[in-house]
Amino acid sequence: MRKRILLLEDEQAIADTLIYALQSEGFEVRHVRLAGEALQAFEAGPPDLAVLDVGVPDGSGFDVCRAIRKTSEVPIVFLSARHEEIDRVLGLELGADDYVVKPFSPREVVARVRAILRRSAGSGGPAAAVPNAPVAQAGALVLDEAAQRIACLGSYLPLTRYEFQLLATLLRRPERIFSRSELMDLVWGGAADTSDRTVDAHVKLLRAKLRERGLMAEVIQTHRNMGYSIRLPD
Ligand code: CA
Repeated sequence: MRKRILLLEDEQAIADTLIYALQSEGFEVRHVRLAGEALQAFEAGPPDLAVLDVGVPDGSGFDVCRAIRKTSEVPIVFLSARHEEIDRVLGLELGADDYVVKPFSPREVVARVRAILRRSAGSGGPAAAVPNAPVAQAGALVLDEAAQRIACLGSYLPLTRYEFQLLATLLRRPERIFSRSELMDLVWGGAADTSDRTVDAHVKLLRAKLRERGLMAEVIQTHRNMGYSIRLPD
């Protein structure tokens, strides 16, 4: 079945190139120009992924993301004209899967959309089929490197790209303490605009997701002035 993309973008020229690129790759696109329309469209029929422009005339893509996240883990990609750390951190804190800064090539956006959909396929579903060859395991958490997924108590965790990379990095070396700057290098590839706050914000999000699955949030341990580690069960 064709994957449905909800596209919020008020600039017609940008929307046109994105719609064309997405449709050429077989996606079905629902395009809206206003935040209010995006929410209506979402409620009328949740898409497989949402691409949200940050700056729109009646509000912002961030507001739309917040509203969507109350009920849905659908992957979200932000489009932004501003390349500011605060925007990027906010976007990722809100649970976005990716963040693209204008000007971008439509092909780049499509490539990211495809990658995210591939990664999120099956997340949240039963994990029976895959973790027969776990590469890393710590108690209830099993990292499946091949499928780029992490199972928790038998089902996959719905994780954004950076949440996955962060938890996977910790899981590969249980009990090993990673400093925030190490994590920035390993997870964010040393991107210039990451900060300690980026790491802390993602740990917070991960703990919330683990708690939702009934796992103690302390599985990810904070080491004062040192960093984070995964705790092995006693
Ligand atoms: Ca705009």
